[in-house]
Parts: sequence; C-alpha cells; structure tokens
Amino acid sequence: MTETPRVSPFRLLRRTLLAWFRKNKRPLPFRESPDAWRVWVSEVMLQQTRVEAMLPRYEDFVARFPDPGTLADASEDEVLAAWAGLGYYGRARALHRAARQLAAEGRGVPRTAGSLRRLPGVGDYTAAAIASIAFGVPAAAVDGNVRRVLSRLFMVEGFRGRAPFEGRIRELADRLMEADGARDPGGWNQALMELGATVCAPAVPRCGRCPVREFCWSRVAGRQTEFPERPPRPPAVSVRLAVAVVRDGEGRILVFRRSESPMRGLYELPCGEYRSDESAEAALVREATTRYGIRLQPGRELAGFRHTVMNRRIEVVPFEAELADPAPGGIVPGGRFVDPQDLDRIPSGSMLLKALQRVGSTP
Ligand code: SF4
Repeated sequence: MTETPRVSPFRLLRRTLLAWFRKNKRPLPFRESPDAWRVWVSEVMLQQTRVEAMLPRYEDFVARFPDPGTLADASEDEVLAAWAGLGYYGRARALHRAARQLAAEGRGVPRTAGSLRRLPGVGDYTAAAIASIAFGVPAAAVDGNVRRVLSRLFMVEGFRGRAPFEGRIRELADRLMEADGARDPGGWNQALMELGATVCAPAVPRCGRCPVREFCWSRVAGRQTEFPERPPRPPAVSVRLAVAVVRDGEGRILVFRRSESPMRGLYELPCGEYRSDESAEAALVREATTRYGIRLQPGRELAGFRHTVMNRRIEVVPFEAELADPAPGGIVPGGRFVDPQDLDRIPSGSMLLKALQRVGSTP
C-alpha cells in the first residue's frame, strides 16, 4: 500500500494564498507588466500613500519618466513637481539620486536584492519587492502589511522594530518564501501584501473572508486584534503655529520654499511657532522678518484648525496679512506668488493645502 505524501502546513498555506491571490488580485497598472522601473516607482510611492491616492500620480509620473535615465536627466524641481500631492518628498529625492547613480555608472536597474539595497532610498523591503516581482528572485519582502499578517497567523509576540519580533517575522517570511520550491516569488510576496491590504486589515480583520483562516493561530484563539502588539506611544507634543495668507492684487498667494529639514524644498505659507506668553500676530511678524526677510502686517484672524504630524499636535491659526513694504512689481526675494489653481502642482506639505481650504483658496 502506498502512502499519500504529507503536504507541510507551510506549503499548503502558500498554495492556498497564492491561488486566492491569482483569482482576487486588484487589477493595478504596475501588475500588468512587471517592468523593474515601474515596480520600483510603484513600491516607493506606496510606502506612505494609499493605492487609490497613488494611482493617478503614478500614471503621470511613469509617463513623464519612463525609465531611470529620464529621471536622472530631470532637475530636482521637475521631480518634486511630478511628485506633488503624494507627500513625503524625501522618497522622490532618493529615487532621483538613485536614478542619477545608475546613470553615472551606466547601468540599468540591478537584478538582485543585494545590489538594489545599495541604492539611495532602497531598503530591504523595496529591494526584495523589485527583485522578486521584476526578476523572480526568491527574496521575502516584509512590509507593515506582511508583519501584521504573519504576526496574526503565527501569534508572534513583541513590538515592531525590536529584535525578537523582527527576527521571528523574518524567519517565518523566509521559510514561507522557500516552501513549495519558492515558486512564483513575486506573486507570493504580492499575495501576502494583498491579504494585509484588503482582508487582514489593521483594526478589523475580515476573518470570515480570509482564504487562510484555517491556518491562523490568532483566529483560532480569538485574539486577532492583539497582534501585532503596539508599543506605548511617545507623549504628544503640542505646538501653536501662526500662518499668514498674503495675496497680491491678482489673488495669488505668497509661498516660500523651505530650506531646512524636515520638508526641505517644499513650499509653505509664511509661518511661525509661538509660545503661550506671546500673541500669534507678534510671532508671525517676528518669524516673517527672521525667516523670510519680509515685514508682515497681520489682519483678520481666520478659522483655525488642528494638524497632526507624527507626535506633534499643531494648532494652526491663520491670518490674512499684507506686506508692510511691498516691493515694486510685487517681487518678494525668496518667495513667489502662486495662483490658487496651481497649488496642487507645486511640492507642498498637506498643511498648506489645509490652510488654504479654510480660506477658500484651493482649486
Ligand atoms: S484569519 Fe483573520 S487574522 Fe488571521 S490572517 Fe486571516 S484575516 Fe488575518
């Protein structure tokens, strides 16, 4: 009598999830042709941006820069302008530097995770994603979605970023990649990410629809939302920020390009933080002089709003304002007046757009 060969749970899990992915994957443009440059751009854009927000920008970006060479030839201003609306502009700068490095070395997109990893802005995850999807290299790509899915499937304890948790996740990811002969590495990486993005959601996992629920230890234990464990948050810091909306005679808005990090290279409204023992107007006048070299006359206070960046809770107080001594011809050294219709075409932080929405100046 012959024995039926036993299929390992890892191999079974892999086959089940891959079969589900092939049937249910979202038809995204970068999945149609696994061109390394398109995969690279999409992975970088998706690092901090939702797929719905990224798609329109992605199409424009790869049409404008269809390969690393065209990006390398562009100026930083052109690259940041094409990235406008996606935020986290450091990603665009790093992609630009990497394209220039490849152009200088006279080579195309590297084919291995190790060589990709040496390029600016390419971390372990991005390198593995590009190598596996574009070149079929069996490198496990571990991002936030994959960490969440694996920590729930195998009840991995500990905090993200800490050695015991990350070590166990890496071990599981590598083992799953190698199971079943490491077939279709790019498909497998995307299947795990897709499960995390569409089914195993952070707050409420849809376990009833999950193709691998039978393999999921935390579901069996009824403890899905306990994984991954959350480290205590750093205490929030409260900041007050006075912001000036200065218009010229044509209704255009005065913006300045920021020269310091974070947000270096992005446009902002003249603004300044202020303490509880001074007025917002006084802070605005002071900061306008020291940071932007202009004399401001704050006018009507506009409706304020709150804006959160990481652990900074910013209370924003906008003012209409005028230049105390406008230069002839409306020229402001270091600043520029922008038509509200064009604001979404210049690189800027989301706070600028929020502030202008409050005063009815956005396109
Ligand atoms: S069963 Fe639920 S918790 Fe487990 S992987 Fe699926 S969606 Fe996530």
